[in-house]
Amino acid sequence: MDDLALLIDLHIGGIRQGPGSPEATDQALALAGLMGKQGLKVADIGCGTGTVSLQLAERLNADVTAVDFLPEFLAKLDEAAQTKGLKERIKTLAASMEDLPFEEGVFDAIWSEGAIYNMGFEAGIKAWRRFLKPGGVLAVSELSWLTAKRPDALDAHWNAAYPEVATASEKIAQLEANGYHLLGYFPLSDTCWRDHYYGPLQARFDAFLERQNHSEAAKAIVSAEEQEIRLYERYKAYVSYGFYVAERIED
Ligand code: SAH
Repeated sequence: MDDLALLIDLHIGGIRQGPGSPEATDQALALAGLMGKQGLKVADIGCGTGTVSLQLAERLNADVTAVDFLPEFLAKLDEAAQTKGLKERIKTLAASMEDLPFEEGVFDAIWSEGAIYNMGFEAGIKAWRRFLKPGGVLAVSELSWLTAKRPDALDAHWNAAYPEVATASEKIAQLEANGYHLLGYFPLSDTCWRDHYYGPLQARFDAFLERQNHSEAAKAIVSAEEQEIRLYERYKAYVSYGFYVAERIED
């Protein structure tokens, strides 16, 4: 099995594939001002197995297009949508976030939790803007520094892994420079990491290693995840994900 197949095997059993929580999604929904509106069109980009897509379809009067480049994750979402009676509301689409097949100006909201880093925040907010209606809302979560200064080891790790890591004020300035105005920002709480992401992930390590016959490649993946978790625990005062909710302004 190659590394991508191993990562799919490790992450497909999770409710979510990145930090977040139903409460955080609700908080962003409140900032987005979409509740109670009728006939919305919403895209969830980098949806994974789709817990956020399901919540959006439950909370909003909306058709949700859930996009991921991994069909294995989308199949899980299709199954869950069927079980929850949301099949009519959620359409899955296997596509790259860098090459989305949408018409311009069609969405009331573009949602993306823990995924825009795959193309980079700045490239993502620029590329996706055209798919929003004027007044449409972008809601994205993104790795963010919580302080102006931080320990060197932490700074070096994330600058190597994701050079676009920056403070919320820098991310907000990018939104303002690219045709959006901010509706709100909040950092994800520790619960979003520990109870909703890292905890459940750690609980799957043993079964994953068993399934993979303790292969070297599988052990390397678990060890990289463990290192990231240790780094988070040690330095969580300095870094989290920020949730940014912004409105597309008229041209
Ligand atoms: N939004 C989900 C998943 C976050 S993990 C959640 O919050 O649980 C990031 C997701 O982005 C993964 O499902 C991964 O398959 C997807 N992804 C990564 N690169 C992508 C790309 N280029 N195009 C589309 N999806 C991508």
